[in-house]
Amino acid sequence: MSAYETIIGLEVHVQLNTKTKIFCACATSFGEEPNKNVCPTCLGLPGALPVLNREVVKKAISFGSAINAEINQNSVFARKNYFYPDLPKAYQISQFEIPIVGRGNIEIEVNGEKKIIGVTRAHMEEDAGKNIHEGNHSKVDLNRACTPLLEIVSEPDMRSSDEAIAYLKKLHSIVRFLGISDANMQEGSFRCDANVSIRPKGDSKLYTRVEIKNLNSFKFIQKAIEYEVERQIEAWEDGNYESEVVQETRLFDTTKGTTRSMRGKEEAADYRYFPDPDLLPVFIDEVLMQEGREIPEMPDEKRERYIRDFGIKASDASVLTSELEMALYFESMLSLGASAKGSVTWLTTELLGRLKGENTLQNCGIDSSVLAILVKRIDEGKISGKSAKEILDVLVQKRGGDVDALILEMGLEQVNDDGVILNAIDSVLNANANKVAEYKSGKDKLFGFFVGQVMKSAKGVNPARVNELLKEKLQ
Ligand SMILES: [Zn+2]
Repeated sequence: MSAYETIIGLEVHVQLNTKTKIFCACATSFGEEPNKNVCPTCLGLPGALPVLNREVVKKAISFGSAINAEINQNSVFARKNYFYPDLPKAYQISQFEIPIVGRGNIEIEVNGEKKIIGVTRAHMEEDAGKNIHEGNHSKVDLNRACTPLLEIVSEPDMRSSDEAIAYLKKLHSIVRFLGISDANMQEGSFRCDANVSIRPKGDSKLYTRVEIKNLNSFKFIQKAIEYEVERQIEAWEDGNYESEVVQETRLFDTTKGTTRSMRGKEEAADYRYFPDPDLLPVFIDEVLMQEGREIPEMPDEKRERYIRDFGIKASDASVLTSELEMALYFESMLSLGASAKGSVTWLTTELLGRLKGENTLQNCGIDSSVLAILVKRIDEGKISGKSAKEILDVLVQKRGGDVDALILEMGLEQVNDDGVILNAIDSVLNANANKVAEYKSGKDKLFGFFVGQVMKSAKGVNPARVNELLKEKLQ
């Protein structure tokens, strides 16, 4: 056990998936030719005025509702002043003193233990553009300038990198279930800054926190936090804490697995925030509040419903609702007539268990309709579970396929003909008259022996039907 406690707070920037930018009518489409989606407002030309996009406000309200947060009917946009080549106005329009979303909560689960993580606030802001450095040149692409972001700030409530990852995954799924962002981490639509500090166990003081900036994969976030905690503990133990752990922004080097200093961390006062005189305070009328509060089923609710309606295990329900794609896949299987129990097993254990490395549910090529047919054929007794595993191996290897064609091709159809099964049962019972007598005098264990003999003598018969008929015969 470590003698230190880790304290983590997270700031997450989520790019909202509106069609147009937050303060102008330019498109937000990703991957366009540089500086194509621009206009005087997002180029920051003098005199161009911002106009707030109503959809951004609506999506922010939806997020607030999903985490049971206070939503401020009146909120204010402020200018955050700093110079950078990708920010031509030399200020970013953000929210400071009065954000749209106030205090809320997100529940996480780590090793079976539930914990509530506080969300301090969430505010709307515009993104900056992008600097691209090539050789001796630096270029600026302003397509991303003015795209809408929701910055979600947590309380410093997390005590391990596992808790931080659980929080981020939960937040990611909430945003995806709400449909307010594609939350694509590679494209930067969901990026995280982690504030990390340590203290001796039992100490209630908060020590110097270090910010690690722009982390865009769960794996890197975990590694960055773990490295940083290690670095701070080492400094503490060596007596160098004061000199080595300073309030600063650090970058995570993904190849070396270490963090390095980027710059001193600015205090809010450094940005000289003041209310933006170009924008009125945001007032949410009843209609907009109502629209924003109408949200779809959230992961936790879905999870409870799965447990209640389908009688599935809590751990399975958690896996199924961990990602929107997974829940949709499962629900699609049910709508195509596959049993809930079979769908759970064949999706979470069998299919996911076979997907390795880069293979994911979304890109494995096996559509929910294909897996649904496989489960239905098991439910119907047409194939055994063992045969279904062989078929699934082929489906995974060939990235999809036709289940019924494979059953024929691989000769895996089970015999369900009662005549054939009864014939086999009769010959087995006749050949083992002594054992039948023992069974009838109470040696129940012999039942398995009879099933085995029948299965051996009549290849490919349905074991479930063999069990039923054998029971009848022996009574
Ligand atoms: Zn524009």
